[in-house]
This record gives sequence, C-alpha cells and structure tokens, in this order.
Amino acid sequence: MGDYFQSVVDLDATERDAQELGARVLDWLIAEGIVAAERTDCVLDGDGYGHAPGPHFAKAVEDPEPVDLWTNGLYVHTGRTVFGSDSADATGAVCPLCRAGIRLADEQWEPIAEAWRPFRGAFHDWAENGGDGIVQCPSCARPSGIATWGWEDDYYAFGQLGFTFWGWAELTFEFTREIGRRLGGHRTAVFSGKM
Ligand SMILES: [Zn+2]
Repeated sequence: MGDYFQSVVDLDATERDAQELGARVLDWLIAEGIVAAERTDCVLDGDGYGHAPGPHFAKAVEDPEPVDLWTNGLYVHTGRTVFGSDSADATGAVCPLCRAGIRLADEQWEPIAEAWRPFRGAFHDWAENGGDGIVQCPSCARPSGIATWGWEDDYYAFGQLGFTFWGWAELTFEFTREIGRRLGGHRTAVFSGKM
C-alpha cells in the first residue's frame, strides 16, 4: 500500500517563469483555503515539507472525504523535473527525428535492459545537470534531447513546474482546468500513481 499522488504539470512553463507561475497558483490555493499557507512535514517530495489541506480543500476534489493521512500535502515542483505516473518505467519511446517506436518492456512488462541502454543517464543529465540528456536513436542513429522524445501512454512529462497532491481524492476537471487558466492558459497534464 503506497502513497497515492496526483501531479498537475504545466507543459509550457519555462525555466524563467516557472517560479513566478508556481507562486501565483499557490497564492490562489491559499487564498481559497484549499491548502494551508505554512509548510509542514506532509509530502514525499523534496525536503518533505509541503502545504497541508486547507479548510476548503473539498472544493478541489470529486469525493471529499476527510484527508487524514500523514502524507496529505501539496508540493510545488519548480525547475527541471521528470514527472511520471508511478515508479515503474515506461514501456515504449518514440524518436522525435525518425518517429521510430522503441520497445522498452517485454510482454511481462519487464524493462528490456538492452533497449534502455541509450536512455540511461539521460534523465539524470537533463534533470540534475541542466544538460540536454542526449539519446542516440537506435533506429536512425541521430542524437536528440531526452525531453523531445515521445512516450507510450504519455508516460513522462519533462516540465519546469508541477503541483503534486499527496493522498487527495480525485481532483475535479474544473479544478485542474482552473489551474491551467491561472497559468496563463498553459497546457497541463495530470499524472497520478503510487509511490
Ligand atoms: Zn530516430
């Protein structure tokens, strides 16, 4: 039994505006009473400190049962972050240059080590080193940055800004759409999973 999370990811935020956009949405969430203003020990991201549910958190979710889990907060990610649905690996990737599909998992959903080889280190290089995370395509042999690859089932998003809610009931469509609106109409994607 892991901890359930939902991440609303801004697909258009840049390195320059992620911080300001994140603060703007957080201010709104605090003003609406959806999350608490102070940061407490309630998330599994970063330093473990996030924003606990506020008195009106039920406005954001489909089925507002009281949230009484320990990990029940909001964590705002800014800066390069690889967002995904769970801790497992993607099952397929698509080269941005030749559109070849690369199988990354076998019929038992087990990662294929040989297929993953060109991708190893690229995630870390992009997220931690500010690099491009160059992957050489096994099909066309051309190099391209990891953030430009496509992923089966939109498995990952390489973003600069994301809002991760831990242990909340399903966020409503209206709520996630409102976040997108407050991000200046940026495209958003929602990821959910367990960790
Ligand atoms: Zn290719």
